[in-house]
Amino acid sequence: MKKRLRFTFIIATITVSSIVLFQLYWLYYTFNNAQRGFHITAVRALEKSIDLYQSQQVELPTSLNYKKPSLTVFMRAKPSVEAFDLDTPKHKEVFKAEFNTVAIDKQHEPYVRALIARLMTQQMHKPLDLNTLAGIYEKELAKDGIVMPVILTLRKQPLSILPNEVASRIDYYKSPVVVIAKLSSSGWMIRHNLLPAIVSFILILLSAGSLWYMGVIIRRQLKLDRLKNDFISNITHELRTPLTILRSSNEAIARFGVAGNPEKLARYTGINADIIDKLEGEVERIMDISMIDRKFSIKEMKQVDLNQLLENLIRRFDLISNKPILLTIPNRPIQVNTDPYKIETILNNLLDNAKKYAGDEARISVEAVISHSGWQLLVSDNGHGISTDNLLYIFDKYYRVENGDLHDVKGYGLGLSHVKGLVESLNGKIIAKSKIGHGTTFTITFPV
Ligand code: ADP
Repeated sequence: MKKRLRFTFIIATITVSSIVLFQLYWLYYTFNNAQRGFHITAVRALEKSIDLYQSQQVELPTSLNYKKPSLTVFMRAKPSVEAFDLDTPKHKEVFKAEFNTVAIDKQHEPYVRALIARLMTQQMHKPLDLNTLAGIYEKELAKDGIVMPVILTLRKQPLSILPNEVASRIDYYKSPVVVIAKLSSSGWMIRHNLLPAIVSFILILLSAGSLWYMGVIIRRQLKLDRLKNDFISNITHELRTPLTILRSSNEAIARFGVAGNPEKLARYTGINADIIDKLEGEVERIMDISMIDRKFSIKEMKQVDLNQLLENLIRRFDLISNKPILLTIPNRPIQVNTDPYKIETILNNLLDNAKKYAGDEARISVEAVISHSGWQLLVSDNGHGISTDNLLYIFDKYYRVENGDLHDVKGYGLGLSHVKGLVESLNGKIIAKSKIGHGTTFTITFPV
């Protein structure tokens, strides 16, 4: 059982860790991809903005605005003369020039415009207006869903570009410059990656949570296993002693002629009857305890005088105890709606424990406290107490606090779990507070 559970847990841990690692890697990969996508989009938009800006700065040939855009280029002059020289006075003679008109299709038109604008602006000595360019850039970015204010700066050949910077080169004034935009990608990244990131995060939480929960269940199962073994060894111990006595007295009757001696026979059969009674009592107790779960659901609620109920119970207890129990009750009759049988069983168990574990010298007290929201019963003793580690588990089935000798006080570790079940079946709550060497207090709270 232990091995199988441990093996299952190891397999589950490996599986869940792989899922979590994969999710983390996937998140990292998606994030990096998105960041790269953002950068590429921003650079393209900046290049396009520069083209647009430059085409606004120069007057482009009107033939580019025709329905069928074209460019007419000077091919050659006959006799061959440098085109520039044609304008000078020494070439006044007649010459023939050859031009060629090139149609520009739709696909190439933006590039041709951009190229001509770029070449023309290169020759002009007009300063670059960064504010106008930034305005164009903002609009271009917005088309790609990146909405943010942009501040542009110029750098002569940057040595390095930072990760949050977007750069594009302009061949201006013969010496190239680089336009730099500082952009924060976080807003865009959040908008584009929020949903997958949340889903992935929830998956990681669910996987890790289920592994943790499985660990808790397995640990609880292993503990229950150990406690059950203790329980069985306790029962065996409780039953073996009377059986040994029965066997001895039986042997005495059979072997040592006790049968012929009516006086001895009566003594031995008397002992046997006692033992059988005890055994029967023990079996009934175990039966009773094992039926607990079924009994929780049955309730017989009635109006009861709380003071009277407690007084009767304590009086009965005092009859079998040499130390009186201190009872503190309100000084007026209190009617509560409850199941008196269950209340008695609860208190019987707690008082039994107080007597069993707190020692003969201990002072035991029961107190009833009434408030507008409900009523409380407090059972306290000033015995040796329960350590904080054990206090967490005392309401668990079969749990017994281990002392040096496991069987120094008889019990099956079922009393407090029974009490808790009963309290909860009456919609109440029970808590235990204890300090080693100072004693223990059980507080039960019932709503009105
Ligand atoms: P059992 O008495 O049969 O062992 P319980 O469920 O009644 O089982 O109690 C669980 C454990 O809690 C006990 O083994 C005991 O160690 C501890 N315990 C309960 N009541 C007290 C008390 N009043 N003082 C000290 N220890 C207590």
